Amino acid sequence: ATPTSIMVGTGRAAELGVLFRKGDALQQLQQAKIIALDKTGTLTLGRPELANVTTINGFDRDTVLRLAAAVEARSEHPIATAITRAGPADLPPIAGFESLTGLGARASVDGHDLLIGSPRLMAQNGIDLSALSQQADQHAAEGATPVFVAINGQAAALLTVSDPVKPGTIEALHRLHTMGLTLAMVTGDNALTAQALADKLGIDHVTAEVLPDGKLATINALRDQFGELAFVGDGINDAPALAAADVGIAIGTGTDVAIETADVVLMSGDLRAVANAVEISRRTMSNIQ
Ligand code: ADP
Ligand code: MG
Repeated sequence: ATPTSIMVGTGRAAELGVLFRKGDALQQLQQAKIIALDKTGTLTLGRPELANVTTINGFDRDTVLRLAAAVEARSEHPIATAITRAGPADLPPIAGFESLTGLGARASVDGHDLLIGSPRLMAQNGIDLSALSQQADQHAAEGATPVFVAINGQAAALLTVSDPVKPGTIEALHRLHTMGLTLAMVTGDNALTAQALADKLGIDHVTAEVLPDGKLATINALRDQFGELAFVGDGINDAPALAAADVGIAIGTGTDVAIETADVVLMSGDLRAVANAVEISRRTMSNIQ
C-alpha cells in the first residue's frame, strides 16, 4: 500500500462517517473473514422498553414494578432504565444496593429483599422459576429478554423487555454477507433471545450468555475458528474484545472507553458505516496491486 492510496482511502472513509485511526486498520480490515458484533446498543438501539409483566405467588403488578423500579433506579444497565421508566415517579427508598455485573441487581426495599435479573442469577440464588420458565422461553423465542424479580427468596414476576433493531442494521448485515463475510453475534443476553434475533438478521454464529469478562475469550475462539476478525461494539465491557480483535470498530454513540480502544470509529450509530469501511478497505488495497 502506498502512503498516498492509504491517505485517499482514509479521506474517503471519513467522508462516509468512518474514522480510521491508523493506516494499518485499513489494510487489516480488507483481510477480515468474520465480523463479530455486540448485540445491545450495536445491532439494537440499546433502548429497551418494558413489554410484559406476569406476576405469581400473590404479588401484583403495581407492587412489583414499584419495588423493582426503586432498585433499578440505581443500576446503569439499559434494562434497568426500562424498568425504572415503567415504575411510578415516587419511588421508595432502598438499602444495601448491589449491582451484579452481567446478571442483575439486588437491594432491600420497604423491608423486602429484592433480586432482579437473569435466569442464571435466579439459579445462583436458589429461586424456583418453574412456574414462569415456559412463558419466559416463549417471549425469548420472539426476541424479548426475560428478566425475573424475586421478593424475599420467592419468584414474584417475569418482566420482558424488548430492544428494537437499529435502522440500517438489516441492510448493513446484508451487504457484509454479500461481500462473503461470516457474521457473528456476541452477547450477554439470553441464548433464546439472541438466537431469535440472529435468525431474523441472518447472523451465522451466536455466542450468548457471555459474562462481561468472557467476551475476550469468545473473540479469540472465533478468530481461531474463522480467521482474521473485526469486532464491532459500544460498551465498557466491549473494550477488551475491541483491543483483542484484528480490527476493533467502535460505535460513535458508544462509551468513551470503547471509542478510545478501537482502531476504527464510526461517527454515527449506523452499522451501514461498517459495510462502507470494508468496501473502502478492499478498494484501497486492490488499487495498489
Ligand atoms: P448485554 O449488554 O450484552 O446484553 P450484559 O452482560 O450487560 O449483556 O447483561 C447480561 C444479562 O444480565 C442481561 O440480558 C440481563 O438478563 C441481565 N442483567 C444485567 N444487568 C441487569 C439489571 N440491572 N437488571 C436486570 N437484568 C440485568
Ligand atoms: Mg452493547
